[in-house]
Parts: sequence; structure tokens; C-alpha cells
Amino acid sequence: MFLNLTEVLTNEDKVIPMRIEAEITAVSVGGETYPVCTASPVDFVFTNTGKGKARIEGKAVFTFEAGCDRCLQPVEQEIVLDFEREVWAPEAATDPSVYEEQPFMDEFQLNVEDLLNSEIVTSWPMKILCKPDCKGICPICGRDLNTGTCDCDSSVPDPRMAAIKDIFEADKEV
Ligand SMILES: [Zn+2]
Ligand SMILES: [Zn+2]
Repeated sequence: MFLNLTEVLTNEDKVIPMRIEAEITAVSVGGETYPVCTASPVDFVFTNTGKGKARIEGKAVFTFEAGCDRCLQPVEQEIVLDFEREVWAPEAATDPSVYEEQPFMDEFQLNVEDLLNSEIVTSWPMKILCKPDCKGICPICGRDLNTGTCDCDSSVPDPRMAAIKDIFEADKEV
């Protein structure tokens, strides 16, 4: 969806609040695609901040279908957006580098989904966990350790760690 920001970019002291439904169905982060479960309306406030300049404030809450990084159980990952961005009208941007900072603007048009996508990616957590102390799955038998313990020998190293160790030892021999 494109919003025309001409009015707020060209009228000093203009303030325009606006509530819209964003057309976002999924987000891509680090090569993974996460479908949207729920999306609140987006509350925008557009405020003129000088000649050809405006501030965009936005608030919204999305939840995405994801999986716990440790136990792989489905998780509804909530992303709360509460952001502020400055934008410039084309003729107000004396330094061409500002266009790199506002790739979601096309002249006076705001691409709402492009802006929201970049804010969601910025807010995406480093780790997605079903709960902070998720115990994960046993690397040997695959049991979900949140549901109980297994009889596997936990002193056996994780096969992925063993592979990394092999690489280090191979390096030493060179
Ligand atoms: Zn988990
Ligand atoms: Zn086990």
C-alpha cells in the first residue's frame, strides 16, 4: 500500500494521525519465511518537522508462526513495533545519501509494507524460544527434554560439536 505524504511534507506544523490495515502476510528474516498469525491495525502519526521533512511514528503488534530454536515446537513470536523515522521530500534532500536511508519512499509516496518489513526485521529476536528456560531436545534420542528426561549418556558430546572439534584438529596437523 502506498500513502501519499505530500500534504505533511509540504505544510509546516501539519500533523496527520492515521490508522490502517497493513497488507503483510509473511516476513523473511535470515533466509527463513515466517507467516503472519495475527496483525493489529497500524497506528501512524505523520508530523511535519520543517520544510520538506516529516517524522513517521508507527505502532503495531504482529505475531508470526515460528519454531523454538531449541526444541522445534511451534511458537507464536510476538513483534511489538513502536518506531520513529525521519523522511524527506525529494527536493529537500540535498545529500543524495538520504535516499539510502529511506528505501521505502518513492518520491512523496510511502510504501507501507516496505517500511513495516524493515522495522519487523530490525525488531526480530536473536533467538526464538518457546520459554526462556527451554531444555531443548536430546541430541541422541531426540526426546523433548521439557517433557522429561531420557536415559542417554549426557557426557557423549553433541555430534555437531564433535564435528567442529575434528575441523580444529585437522587444522593443527597442517
Ligand atoms: Zn523450546
Ligand atoms: Zn536421549
